[in-house]
Amino acid sequence: MNTQDIVSAVEAVQAAILANEAHIESLDRAIGDGDHFINVRRGCEAIVAMRPELSQLPPAAAFERIGMKLLSTIGGASGPLIASFFMSMGRELAGIEQPDTREFAQALAAGVEAIKKRGKADVGEKTMLDVLIPTSRLLQRLAAEGADRESLCMKIKQEAEANMLATRDMIATKGRAHFLGERALGHIDPGAKTSQVAVFAVCDMLT
Ligand code: ADP
Ligand code: MG
Ligand code: MG
Repeated sequence: MNTQDIVSAVEAVQAAILANEAHIESLDRAIGDGDHFINVRRGCEAIVAMRPELSQLPPAAAFERIGMKLLSTIGGASGPLIASFFMSMGRELAGIEQPDTREFAQALAAGVEAIKKRGKADVGEKTMLDVLIPTSRLLQRLAAEGADRESLCMKIKQEAEANMLATRDMIATKGRAHFLGERALGHIDPGAKTSQVAVFAVCDMLT
């Protein structure tokens, strides 16, 4: 993986987020304040606009720059969380010019860990972490086993989708949705949905 791949991945995520606008909007309107799609779109646009600057940087520095940029462009609860994800990935990859799958999986796990810390949340709280934690763990395991890219991506997508859907039956204990109590039941968490969409976009780009 190089910085070019990172920017291409963000572009793929951006396209996929745009393609899912109506669904993501309706989820945050149902159990949040309706801005999640706009927040994520703004973040994607900011990163894609940084392309010339990013392309000069090794992956570690590119991730750190992306994180810093997102901190000032995405607001709300998700802004600082997604920003800390990228900054932590950058720190984890310091000194690695061309991360391989295992190194990338390791960095991703560090990024997810940063979201957990910053959001003081874990699995089962109806957030993006319900997709990110199990998916990241599975990626680490499959990378360690040396799984081929095709089957790795297929399994990762299955994991992301199942866990995204599972948030429908959860009560939120973090984020705006926790004010709704049981009224949040029956709705997928918007952050879990965008996380699944992002995972799919990156996997589809790689296969
Ligand atoms: P806001 O809730 O401030 O309007 P967004 O709508 O952009 O921000 O993002 C909402 C999403 O953020 C939720 O759907 C959830 O997935 C995620 N989220 C909220 N709080 C937390 C937290 N403490 N830890 C992890 N994720 C969280
Ligand atoms: Mg919102
Ligand atoms: Mg908001």
